[in-house]
Amino acid sequence: MKTVAITGATGSIGDSSLAIIRKHPDQFKVHALSGHQNSEKLIRLAAEFKPKNVVISDKAAYQTVKKALSNSTTQVHAGAGALDAMVADKEVDLVVAAIVGNAGMDSVLAAVKAGKTLLLANKESIVAAGPLVMQLAQQTGAKIVPLDSEHNAIYQCLGSDYLIGTRPEHVRNITLTASGGPFWNTPEMDFVDITPAQAVAHPKWDMGAKISVDSATLMNKGLEIIEAHWLFNMPNQDIQVVVHPQSIIHSMVNYEDGSVLAQMGCPDMQIPISHGLGLGQRLSNDADFLDLVSQGELNFYQADMRKFQCLQLARDAMVAGGTAPAVLNAANEVSVAAFLAGQIRFDQIGHYNAKILDIIDVVSVESLAHLKALDAEVRQQTTALIQSNR
Ligand code: NAD
Ligand code: MG
Repeated sequence: MKTVAITGATGSIGDSSLAIIRKHPDQFKVHALSGHQNSEKLIRLAAEFKPKNVVISDKAAYQTVKKALSNSTTQVHAGAGALDAMVADKEVDLVVAAIVGNAGMDSVLAAVKAGKTLLLANKESIVAAGPLVMQLAQQTGAKIVPLDSEHNAIYQCLGSDYLIGTRPEHVRNITLTASGGPFWNTPEMDFVDITPAQAVAHPKWDMGAKISVDSATLMNKGLEIIEAHWLFNMPNQDIQVVVHPQSIIHSMVNYEDGSVLAQMGCPDMQIPISHGLGLGQRLSNDADFLDLVSQGELNFYQADMRKFQCLQLARDAMVAGGTAPAVLNAANEVSVAAFLAGQIRFDQIGHYNAKILDIIDVVSVESLAHLKALDAEVRQQTTALIQSNR
């Protein structure tokens, strides 16, 4: 029996994780769950899974959750440090990091510091704090298991002896597949008219709003290149991207002898999360089985780096190193939020991200405190830049 803590449990990755846990009550005990503003959902999840702790970060929502759970065995926490304590709790075996954005960075580092097994969905934290996360994991022995479908695919292909953070042996390079999002075929001149509703309607994956927009701009693939760099210790030129609209092959490892190992499956996050939660053991889930005959064709195309500026920006930030990925990541969070709020156009997301990368100097990553100060600065500057152009 493994005890599990899930940060960002009220989101899409939270749903998929809890769907698997629900099917295997003999193997998992939910110890802690966190949410941000969705008090109603957190209350419902607490009633079903009876965790020892829940954390709700929004102040107003805290009162609602506290009141609703006052007669239960679940303790309700909020405030600075509550998430860190939740994941570092000595009773927790597995931490599923499913918060969206840089808001997940502290709890990811807290889980790694406590030497936990970290099932990582929150890619933004490793993009921004890659050097800190990997160094700390080496010191504490924390095991990081990627849940992002591409990285989980590569992790599966590398085999059970592979140690995360080390350059895999006899591997020439890796290929991340990208669905291309809803607009990979849309002419660039039509990008100005794309609405938030169109951008979040992903053709293959059902995900939260922020990652759906990132998939539409291909920033998601850019963040994933940086994520792969840290997890698999590979340089920019060894991480290829190919557009594969059907999202059946989730990524590939290209060995020196010409063998290519790929992991396939229907596009459903329950598959990589099952692999992560199972820790080497296969767990059944509710995802559909792959039927290649009814699937028909699998296609592959070169990604257009000019049209999808964010993909190029991510490569540039990775090559620049130091704080550049953290700057890009924070700027992107602000510009995506501004797009979703109807303040900027779809094609301006990349434009603002590029401007901020240009303005802010790159230095080496010192500490979590350094990254948090930088994050606040980048947010403030990106917001100001957007406001000044409106
Ligand atoms: P989501 O928007 O559905 O859920 C986000 C979760 O984070 C919610 O529980 C929310 O309450 C919490 N949250 C948001 N802001 C917060 C804050 N400031 N403080 C604390 N908690 C906060 O997002 P998602 O699609 O589940 O994605 C979660 C993460 O997983 C992202 O980093 C995303 O890139 C990654 N991921 C998602 C998918 C997917 O299929 N959804 C696939 C691969 C990777
Ligand atoms: Mg992915």
